[in-house]
Amino acid sequence: MPEFNNGCKLRLSRIQSQAYLTRHMNQIPTVAVPTIAIAGSRDRFPVRRIFCVGHNYADHAREMGAGPERQPPFFFTKPADAVVDSGQRLPYPPHTADLHHEVELVIALGAGGSDLAPLSALALIFGYAVGIDLTRRDLQAAAKKSSRPWDMSKGFDRSAPIGPLTRGVPPSAGAIALTIDGNPRQNGDLREMIWGVADIIAILSTYVAVAAGDLIFTGTPAGVGAIERGQRVRGSIAGAEPVEVTFD
Ligand code: MN
Repeated sequence: MPEFNNGCKLRLSRIQSQAYLTRHMNQIPTVAVPTIAIAGSRDRFPVRRIFCVGHNYADHAREMGAGPERQPPFFFTKPADAVVDSGQRLPYPPHTADLHHEVELVIALGAGGSDLAPLSALALIFGYAVGIDLTRRDLQAAAKKSSRPWDMSKGFDRSAPIGPLTRGVPPSAGAIALTIDGNPRQNGDLREMIWGVADIIAILSTYVAVAAGDLIFTGTPAGVGAIERGQRVRGSIAGAEPVEVTFD
């Protein structure tokens, strides 16, 4: 990790006058909207925001040290440009020696609203996909211990590989699984979700107005664990296109 101490602090008053610091000031940049694939289509789905639910399967909540009782869902976020298509080779992320996989059902919203009832929430769904909520578990553990934000443990570059979207409302039951180099690591069923998709969208919409382009990671079953360099990680949900990425 580079050192950022007072000894290397830039002396801005002197440097600000130098021409090389103004080379990007003349043109307003163009910023691309991140997108994800749609199964059976060449069109791409634009990503507005990424929300994630924590502890939505009781056996995973227990493995993370939380109680099994049903509590209201809690949310965290990743930046929209954390999305990665299936089939990519990814650099092992910096600042971690404990990169974890969490396979999850991802919901994509085609419309939005606030304070929604669960049935109206279901009507907003564009489609669903398999995602991997990549987590720098060592940074998350340190953040939890010091009551600091999770952002850098969850919302880093390329932290959200997502397979192609299937249009329609996701099944409420069916296998959700993850393998590493073909070996089973996570095996669950969507029916084990503590909060279902309709409830998650409805409750999220009381905290923020949800909108078209929003993605929601709906939590992971038990069996999360470390990914080593060179390994191939594959997430699957019955009836959806899988997601697969390999780490350098
Ligand atoms: Mn997760």
